[in-house]
Amino acid sequence: MRIAVFSTCAYDRESLEKYNTGHQLVFFEHPLDLQNVALTKGFDALCVFVNDKADREVLSALKENGIRLLLLRCAGFNNVDLDAARENEIKVLRVPAYSPEAVAEHAIAMILTLNRKTHKAYNRIREGNFSLEKLMGFNLHGCKVALIGTGNIGKAFYRILKGFGCRVMAYDPFPDKTLTAEGLIYGTLEEVLCEAEIVSLHCPLSAETKHMINNETLKLFKKGAMLINTSRGALVAAADVIEALKSGQLGYLGLDVYEQESALFFHDLSGDIIQDDLIARLISFPNVLITSHQGFFTREAIQQIAETTFSNADSFVAGSPLLNEVNS
Ligand code: NAD
Repeated sequence: MRIAVFSTCAYDRESLEKYNTGHQLVFFEHPLDLQNVALTKGFDALCVFVNDKADREVLSALKENGIRLLLLRCAGFNNVDLDAARENEIKVLRVPAYSPEAVAEHAIAMILTLNRKTHKAYNRIREGNFSLEKLMGFNLHGCKVALIGTGNIGKAFYRILKGFGCRVMAYDPFPDKTLTAEGLIYGTLEEVLCEAEIVSLHCPLSAETKHMINNETLKLFKKGAMLINTSRGALVAAADVIEALKSGQLGYLGLDVYEQESALFFHDLSGDIIQDDLIARLISFPNVLITSHQGFFTREAIQQIAETTFSNADSFVAGSPLLNEVNS
């Protein structure tokens, strides 16, 4: 198949070329959107990532250009209008899980960094400042953690937290019996938010979960609690967390994802003036850590993304069952 691959960096090109099962790949650096959809003429399939926009208008233009298949190099599919894809007879296949441990471990890295302030210690020591002032953290052992979503990543995260000796509670509309058997206690969203010293989000973005962390739910948090979001940016209302940080209601914030990330993340903007005032304000807090959607970014995950993407493409060509199809 002739596949147009959008949103590619050097590491994407390297792994996709390495694990290619014989398809003709053409790489584009920019994310897919209505302005550049004309580039897809003459291709059979598209391969896209988290910030490519496959809305109704784009999908109908894709159909006109002869595209029959959308290969997502990710698990989340909130950026695709699935009803419009079905109406335009475009199959959508995803990579349902690629090293959930990679994202779970990144969430742990964010907790440890925010808590023990190793990033500040690193800079201080390089400047000959060996003071411990303002570096005090807290023990994770015995700490109450709320897990929102206990799918692949939430499960991996829970197992790491158990090793730290944390007391973990979870909210998921579909509790996992294997985790209950391992000692995980489920409660309502309100119950787990009220109790926790750390809240970590691992649920998908949907109409129901959009801005689930907002003014109202932040009031339920314990004063000074930590919030970690490695899931999708729009789970969190950024303006509301800024207010909670200013009042001290929120004590720490770790974001690997951000609602308006498509204009920022994965780009080197170090010579530019950042126009997004919300992220500029977030960056200014000493108790906020932002990473650029790098939770997935391990060797193992990148390999699995490439292998599953080509196995999805091969199943489509062979007319085999599409195990990783996403339906509306
Ligand atoms: P998953 O589908 O295995 O699990 C999601 C869980 O969330 C399910 O158990 C589901 O029942 C639960 N859920 C659904 N609605 C909920 C709600 N309203 N409240 C609480 N829980 C709810 O997904 P996963 O592989 O664990 O991934 C979780 C999310 O992580 C993905 O949706 C994606 O957005 C994000 N992700 C981020 C990165 C990254 O690099 N930062 C990488 C991969 C995935």
